Amino acid sequence: MGERARLIVLGRQGAGKGTQCVRLAERLGVPHRSTGDLLRAEVAAATPLGKEVADHLEEGRLVPDDLVLDLVATTLGSPRARAAGYLLDGFPRTLAQGQALFEVLGRDAAHLAIELYVPTEVVRPRLAARRVCLGCGAVTSAPAGGPECRTCTECDGEVARRADDTDEAIKRRLALYEQESCPLLIWFDRQGLLTSVNGVGEPEEVFARLTAVVDAALASRSGGAGLLDSH
Ligand code: AMP
Repeated sequence: MGERARLIVLGRQGAGKGTQCVRLAERLGVPHRSTGDLLRAEVAAATPLGKEVADHLEEGRLVPDDLVLDLVATTLGSPRARAAGYLLDGFPRTLAQGQALFEVLGRDAAHLAIELYVPTEVVRPRLAARRVCLGCGAVTSAPAGGPECRTCTECDGEVARRADDTDEAIKRRLALYEQESCPLLIWFDRQGLLTSVNGVGEPEEVFARLTAVVDAALASRSGGAGLLDSH
């Protein structure tokens, strides 16, 4: 097996990263690693880490860097995990996390960092309308002003707002993105690793933009071979 792609996807909460990352990871044949998903699983399983971070998640505050870094080191630290490639979603999220990632995994910790750009005024109402099935995890959108369906059409499970999609937590999370993640974007840009993709539009359309940019960037980095083998 040749070398696999190592990608980082950044973007505001509600930019559609989750949906796009699942598809992109599948296309590139690499695991999708979402720190949000990993942390929510720890909370759901009531592990010691889960108990420690539960309040942070619910209130929309960032989990302290050292806890997230330990979790990521456990998930990605082995030579095997590195060789399998990855698509990181929601990590790094602060400049300190980005620098730590490159210190631990070396200069080529990522071949590319992609910013999925959707402006705040577009993501805010999306987050407020977002509903998640507590059974199967399917994500839907509540109709504006209309009656809400509280049962999942896929599995009959209960459909609810994510605990951190309250108005207060949305406000805090979006403000944290400006404060903590924008310096990280600048840092990636200075290293020549950052590319920005317009994330506004239908999911199909955004995915086409994303794959065009990723394919071109990876092909130029690998001299046209290796990183794109798994299409
Ligand atoms: P997400 O699903 O990516 O929006 O993440 C949900 C929540 O998990 C965030 O609001 C944070 O509380 C926590 N979280 C996820 N990733 C990170 C990270 N890299 N650093 C700190 N906290 C994180």
